[in-house]
Amino acid sequence: MKKPYAKETICIQSGWKPGNGEPRVLPIYQTTTYKYDTSEQMGRLFDLEEDGYFYTRLQNPTNDCVAQKICELEGGVAAMLTSSGQAANYYAVFNICEAGSHVVLSSTVYGGTFNLIAVTMKKMGISCTIVDPDADYETLCQAFQENTRCVLAETIANPALVVLDIEKFAKAAHAHQVPLIVDNTFATPINCNPFKWGADIVTHSTTKYMDGHAMCVGGAIVDSGNFDWSLYPEKFPGLCEPDDSYHGIIYAEKFGKEAYIRKATVQLMRDLGSIQSPQNAFLLNVGLETLHLRMPRHCENAMKVASFLENHEKVAWVNYPGLKSSKYYELACKYMPNGTCGVISFGLKGGRHAAEIMMDKLELAAIVTHVADARTCVLHPASHTHRQMNDEQLKEAGVNPDLIRFSVGIENAEDIIADLEQALAAI
Ligand SMILES: *Cc1c(COP(=O)(O)O)cnc(C)c1O
Repeated sequence: MKKPYAKETICIQSGWKPGNGEPRVLPIYQTTTYKYDTSEQMGRLFDLEEDGYFYTRLQNPTNDCVAQKICELEGGVAAMLTSSGQAANYYAVFNICEAGSHVVLSSTVYGGTFNLIAVTMKKMGISCTIVDPDADYETLCQAFQENTRCVLAETIANPALVVLDIEKFAKAAHAHQVPLIVDNTFATPINCNPFKWGADIVTHSTTKYMDGHAMCVGGAIVDSGNFDWSLYPEKFPGLCEPDDSYHGIIYAEKFGKEAYIRKATVQLMRDLGSIQSPQNAFLLNVGLETLHLRMPRHCENAMKVASFLENHEKVAWVNYPGLKSSKYYELACKYMPNGTCGVISFGLKGGRHAAEIMMDKLELAAIVTHVADARTCVLHPASHTHRQMNDEQLKEAGVNPDLIRFSVGIENAEDIIADLEQALAAI
């Protein structure tokens, strides 16, 4: 059997496979609908008896090519794009949960994900238990209940930069017969493949490094195909019992390893409609083509900036999993031997007030509600993304009130450091 291509090659070549005389570059299928010759053929599509496109709210060929590329990068069996990272995490969880279900959630997940699960999904009757990602295995296991249906955590937490012990989480999830969903946004498949370590489903906010240029909000869900839903029909009736909205088909029986993504596509996307626009999928694909070049540069620059900050007299602390001083250095070496991400967090001796002075003085690094793209940017989570949380919740989320999130871009590292140097001098 032919060896699968390396990630560099997948970034460039996978997805769109033109036939003779077809466009070399992935076309944007700018269409809502698709034409068929016979009424019967269209009918078979609606019965899911035949594969094909019928309406872009569910599926579009441009999107599917890009999803295929992400699927191969993660080493999965099926994938789909969503309109945002939020939609990806929502669908990933809601695809196997319903009113009365329970989710085990890592306390350090992105603020938007925390709100989604702990606040909004609670209103839908889905409860959660929040766990410390650093908790030992036994403590972690205590979070599970009879009605638990999944575990959700991030490879590298945004913005706490906690590195997940994926094997520990996978073991706990599987001991309780539920899948582990890992949001792999910060590491990207270039630096980590959570499936290799036992994760079952991976989600992405493609808005970040995958797009890489801060152009398009988007998300993706990838299934490893490793979790066998049919072993636990009482836990996953949505996959193992007939779906009345499709003449009683049973996803796990009909689609095997693709059941999870198929259900999310033909049921959740049909009903909730968070499709990514084909235009955005096209731009995401352009971003993906250079992901393998950009990630090492982000990591290299971030190491230089983190070392500079660590040695600066006005800096109280620096958290970057690539630094030997980091609590997560060993986990980072195990799960991400080639580098982690370009995001650093740090605090100043002058606290919150000094942070504000410094941020206002930065010239190259812009204050933006964004992270993980080619341009260096900075954010103060306690005043911005996490402002709905009180100090106690901030601490639980691994976000100190003085934490500055610094997203190192792919400019020249010396220029980024010089910018920080002059801004720190102003304090
Ligand atoms: C940004 C982010 C999200 C949400 O993604 P959007 O594309 O902004 O909806 C989810 N998870 C992580 C880790 C993120 O960084």
